Amino acid sequence: VSPPPSGTATGFSAATGGNGGDQSRDGRLQVVNEDQEFTKQLSSYLDRWDLLDKGFAYDVVSVFGSQSTGKSTLLNRLFGTTFDVMDESKRQQTTKGIWMCPSKFGNTLVMDVEGTDGRERGEDQDFERKSALFSLASTEVLIVNLWEHQIGLYNGANMGLLKTVFEVNLGLFGGGGDTNKPRPQEKTLILFVIRDHVGSTPMSNLTATLTQDMEKIWASLSKPQHLADATLSSYFDLSFAALPHKVLMPEKFEESVLELRQRFTDRSRADYVFQPSYHKRIPADGVGFYMEGIWQQVLANKDLDLPTQQELLAQFRCDEISTVVTEAFVASSKVVRRPVEVGSVVDGLGALMRDWLDTALGKFDRDASRYHAGVYQRKRLDLLASLHASLSSLFLGQLKNLHKIETGKFSKGIVAGVKEPGYDFGKVVEEGKVASRTRFLDAAKEVKIDGTDWEYEHELASLEDDLRLIADRCRADETKKMVNTIERTVKRQLLEPVEVALSQPSPTMWDKVLETYKDVSESGEDAYLAKAKSYNCTEEENTAALTALRARIWLSLRKKLEEQTSDATILATLRSNFEERFRYDDAGVPRVWKPADDIEAAFRKSKDDTLALLPLFAEITPSSPSLLPALPSPEASFDLESDPTPFDPSTAFVLLSPTKLLSLETRFKREADAAYVEAKRSMVSSVAQ
Ligand code: GDP
Ligand code: MG
Repeated sequence: VSPPPSGTATGFSAATGGNGGDQSRDGRLQVVNEDQEFTKQLSSYLDRWDLLDKGFAYDVVSVFGSQSTGKSTLLNRLFGTTFDVMDESKRQQTTKGIWMCPSKFGNTLVMDVEGTDGRERGEDQDFERKSALFSLASTEVLIVNLWEHQIGLYNGANMGLLKTVFEVNLGLFGGGGDTNKPRPQEKTLILFVIRDHVGSTPMSNLTATLTQDMEKIWASLSKPQHLADATLSSYFDLSFAALPHKVLMPEKFEESVLELRQRFTDRSRADYVFQPSYHKRIPADGVGFYMEGIWQQVLANKDLDLPTQQELLAQFRCDEISTVVTEAFVASSKVVRRPVEVGSVVDGLGALMRDWLDTALGKFDRDASRYHAGVYQRKRLDLLASLHASLSSLFLGQLKNLHKIETGKFSKGIVAGVKEPGYDFGKVVEEGKVASRTRFLDAAKEVKIDGTDWEYEHELASLEDDLRLIADRCRADETKKMVNTIERTVKRQLLEPVEVALSQPSPTMWDKVLETYKDVSESGEDAYLAKAKSYNCTEEENTAALTALRARIWLSLRKKLEEQTSDATILATLRSNFEERFRYDDAGVPRVWKPADDIEAAFRKSKDDTLALLPLFAEITPSSPSLLPALPSPEASFDLESDPTPFDPSTAFVLLSPTKLLSLETRFKREADAAYVEAKRSMVSSVAQ
């Protein structure tokens, strides 16, 4: 046996028909070569044949039968295909393999099997069985081509092969899983074409015999357990046609072929063969992958589970479609990635994202929904999840940016708000918060995609925390400002009355001072509390502010008292008191000393009375010790280390030490003495005049 002529270097043959017609639809393709390899070019041929984008709108027919029974001849006549036909005169063997060629009449893929007749040659039943199995599994209509005289030969080789193929097929198909019903796509039409039909036996007898044979074959199959009750008719519909002898009755043969062709092309006919229930529901662009998968399973002699095969195909194609769709999706989302990354809030981002999603899913649905429904749905969920995931960074970025921008706006709003005349700090903060929250929520809702588990509550809570922190910080500043203002007012109210009281020393002097201190302190605290209420200050803040206020008022008082008890001031005060007594009479008229006057007695009295006032300054001593104020705590910023005096009960009320008193007394006496001498002198001079 000489090896069959091989086609291209890859071992695959592709040929064009000899009729010089439309090349794209004429070329035939060796789908499986003699080395049992599946072509890589099926999809590109489908494209070339204008079938790739036909979706479900295409059909597959293949042929089964012994060698040299005129199969290729029949296909070429029926479909205008260009399969090799054995040349009778040369008995030349055609190229082995499975061939595919598009029909000239409709979107039909026609498959022809070439092989040696294994039974006769004692070889290669393997390929015959495999190719028959492949044809059966991948076709809608299987033409069983046989001579009329073969009919009824149940044990004939042909029917034996058919039995094997059915059996393996049923076992491998696994049909219907745990039910005993096949899935819709598992049904196939078997069209018996009886060749060299003479006509002496009525057609009805022949079809009855063939039907009985098929039922017998079916009954004799060893079926898988779960398919024990499955009937032939749940897997196969049988149909019949007869053709006259091609050589003896060429015209009648042609006529019958044309008639038979109608059954492949005329949908309106009741016996139209490509009924939807036979369609394998594989979109044309998936046929290459699908058929290769079937062939691989046939080769590997694994379970030829068509649904699984369909699922594999669906997975493969859905993944491919997802990839394409995702690429376009990513490309369109690119424009906003950068702005979001650098901190911008992209207006209408949610609408954009929804648009990209709609586009992507629309494309996916259009191309993928034709595949296995379960896989398509699953892959759609996967796609959606991955698209959502790729958008979620935009969502989170937008939220983060919103957060940042809103905190900025809030701060600015407060700064601007407290510049308004007569502003209410509490109101400024509250309005700012509400506005920020509203804007954030509006934008966050806009950018959230339905059907995701995205949430913005967390970011909102964090924004609110930040707004609170900012408000707290601003309020601390505001409170400080307010305490300073109150302190200034209080000082103004405090200092003058204290100065007046101390310039007119008397035993009730301290009562007056402390009363003023108490009044202004209280009004200061009231002023603080009234304002603090609208600021939403905390208890702690109030305590701290009031502590500061009290400490400062006390310190101002102390400072004023220290000024008023400085050497110079005390001496001035004493001097003016002394002069009041010594130089003016009880009616307030300046005295002119006369020789008769007892200057010395007057001097001594004035001096002693004045000196008696000096101890009043030594310490804050109200008429009753209960009038002494409670000492405030020092303000947090006050440095007790360097000067504890004002807040230490043992020193806080003391103004002059005994030594100091003594020295002041000495200095005052000296000044008083000088006044006395001067008075004496003035009297002498007035006498001398
Ligand atoms: P295949 O091997 O089944 O594809 O058969 P071919 O189509 O190659 O034809 C084998 C031989 O049978 C060729 O010599 C054809 O001329 C011949 N042939 C074709 N059709 C008929 C027919 O209807 N009747 C008879 N008797 N011979 C035919
Ligand atoms: Mg042939």
